[in-house]
Amino acid sequence: IRMNAEETSYFVKHPDLLFHAAILSRNPAMDLKREMIMPNSNSDDIPEVRYKLYRPHDHKFNKTQKYQTCSISELGPRISSIESMAIQADMVKCPDITEPFIMWNMLMRFLNDEIYTSIGDILICVNPFKNIKGLYDNERIIAVKEQPDLQDLSESPHVYNMANAAINGLTYKNKTQSIIISGESGAGKTEQTKKCLHFYSHSSSVPLPYSKPRSATIPDSDSISSRILSANPILEAFGNAKTVRNNNSSRFGKWMKIRFRRVSSEEIVMVGCHTDHYLLEKARLVSHSANERTFHIFYQLLSGGLETDLLNKFQLDDKSANYFYYLSFGDSEVDNIDDEAELNTTLAAFETLGFEPEEIEALLASLAGVLFLGNVDFVETDSDGTMAMDSSTPDLNSCASLLGVNPDRLDRAVTTKERTVRTETIISPLSKEQSTSFRDALAKAIYGAIFDWVMMKVNESMKVPVKNTMVPFIGILDIFGFEIFEENCFEQLCINYCNEKLQKHFVEQIIKKEEAMYKEEQVTYTSSEIVDNSDVLELIEDRRIGILPMLDEECKVNKGSDKGFLSKVTKAHKNNNRFKAGAPFKEAEFMIDHYAGRVKYETTGWMERNKDELPAHLEAMMAKSQNSFLKGLFAVKLEAKEKLEKTKLPGHKHALVSESGEFIKQLNSLADALESSQPHFIRCIKPNSHKEASLIEPELVVEQLRYSGVLEAVKIRKQGYPFRPKHNDFIQRYWSLVPNFEKTVGDFNSVDDDERCITLVTLL
Ligand code: ATP
Ligand code: MG
Repeated sequence: IRMNAEETSYFVKHPDLLFHAAILSRNPAMDLKREMIMPNSNSDDIPEVRYKLYRPHDHKFNKTQKYQTCSISELGPRISSIESMAIQADMVKCPDITEPFIMWNMLMRFLNDEIYTSIGDILICVNPFKNIKGLYDNERIIAVKEQPDLQDLSESPHVYNMANAAINGLTYKNKTQSIIISGESGAGKTEQTKKCLHFYSHSSSVPLPYSKPRSATIPDSDSISSRILSANPILEAFGNAKTVRNNNSSRFGKWMKIRFRRVSSEEIVMVGCHTDHYLLEKARLVSHSANERTFHIFYQLLSGGLETDLLNKFQLDDKSANYFYYLSFGDSEVDNIDDEAELNTTLAAFETLGFEPEEIEALLASLAGVLFLGNVDFVETDSDGTMAMDSSTPDLNSCASLLGVNPDRLDRAVTTKERTVRTETIISPLSKEQSTSFRDALAKAIYGAIFDWVMMKVNESMKVPVKNTMVPFIGILDIFGFEIFEENCFEQLCINYCNEKLQKHFVEQIIKKEEAMYKEEQVTYTSSEIVDNSDVLELIEDRRIGILPMLDEECKVNKGSDKGFLSKVTKAHKNNNRFKAGAPFKEAEFMIDHYAGRVKYETTGWMERNKDELPAHLEAMMAKSQNSFLKGLFAVKLEAKEKLEKTKLPGHKHALVSESGEFIKQLNSLADALESSQPHFIRCIKPNSHKEASLIEPELVVEQLRYSGVLEAVKIRKQGYPFRPKHNDFIQRYWSLVPNFEKTVGDFNSVDDDERCITLVTLL
């Protein structure tokens, strides 16, 4: 809620009250209406603004807003109890755990620049959209490492405490730790990931014994910490983009495994890191909406920061972003992003990570080639509609020379379809639309291969000796949040499927484990209302009738089609209440009832999208490129494909490596890793949809709290005994209350902690 000076007049005396009112009003049973009381026309008074709480007649079915006034006395007890409530760093300690109270507690802290709040050992972080002084100082890292008092997450919630808890878990229990960061786009996941890395870099690293300094200008380039920090700008340059929801949105998911070496029973040091990546949004390269951009690296390339001779080589000397079709859909500049400065950071990071100068040059040349490829248009050459690339602009030649292919060969490859039947190659012309789609497929394939290569190089630069890879690690998961758009496609299904998997993990780790413990300790509790989502997971991934495996199957058979796929899925799930297709949905649509809401998916083009396959002749052309960098990337792909083709089943058109099949495999292996680790959850919350500091939209916040399971987690924690000090800590804290403790209870080392604790409690 943001108000101007006049608007606040009514609440000047009780600013909190407005907050309570607004938050309560966002409870579905309430609504808040604003009334402006105008002063007499001859008075100098400013208008008075009053807020009234209303209860809509029937909030679920009647959105036409018929209001009944709700008496303040009805709200009175709730408001006065909020007022008498102390703000808590750990929400489990709040006396009341209804939605409005939790919101109020969290938001009051937020307004005080305390963006972190905990729920037991879950960390909530509200994105401040501004730098808060001192919040991430190195002094804080040192303090967290050195002062046990500061380490308790529920006393002083902070991402550094969580990172520290993970490293302690690894050091003392030798168990793999996972930090699972979730939240919607722009909620601050990547920032929290970076803070964890910052913590580890500054608190636990040693120079790599096997690396030599590469450059005198980067004095600490041989240490793993500088590499780990430098990896980020590179990954962001290639994998992040400006979207309407976030100026630096990660367009891929990542799982970073940070490796350590044990120095002693009390100390481990960071020695390496490996990042797995998921679902890069390649489609963004060839189109994106207005107000958005494609990947940052392209704007960095054109920012003017590159040396002139390189710009000449890449034929970019007189070009700006607007010149290129692939960059022409939306913005080319973004507030708060200085592309030239970012380019310098990226180049410095390449050097820190040991990329060779020739590799960097080949990489940038290939990116320029992709931009020119997008500029190539098609013209009709014959009355029969035969297409050719438009050679009247120099872009075709620029593209061909940068990609290392012959312009005529490129022209033919993109405007015709080549099929081999027995020993004969049949060439058929393509329409303008088909040619454009081949061109874009080539651009996406090149960018995808470049991204994979960059990732491989980054991993290589932080590789640890093989014998070390089996030891436990700290994994940090920074992955896309749940997505519901007006139009949802294959990508959204994959993303939402991933979120279902993570939700299941969260429910199992936090809610189910808690319930199991209550049962074991005979604590009475009401079981959680949180919905078990195993049925949705089954609907999506079941090997036989799951939506994604069925899509794969359709891609493999002759005459498979999007329509055929949807009709088979509909038949298989006609009695599944998590699934719906047919009227009122459109012909190509189906709906899934996810844990976070209902999402309607539109299935046109899913088969193509799932195959994500570059036509074989285009692949072969690239594998013979004169650009040895690109040639290498495609030759490896081709080889792998040829090997796979040999495993093709009789009657099947393809030996398919599909996008969804790969993703299911990746996610299952991620889920296994998470399951066998000790989890630490960070739930990031986006306070408003305008990327603004000090602005809160309560409705948006409460929605995120609801579907992230945070509210359920508070409830369940609260039902049992939320304070769980270790027996020894309890003794340390309270022994002084018992006179002659040692005499009465026994020597510190002689009796075990459990017994001494029981004696202490009986004496207190
Ligand atoms: P996406 O899913 O789109 O990748 P995200 O959850 O990773 O989103 P971030 O990129 O981490 O979101 O955050 C978005 C922006 O919010 C950042 O670029 C930064 O401007 C701001 N921000 C996030 N967290 C913080 C923080 N702790 N302090 C200051 N600003 C922050
Ligand atoms: Mg991100």
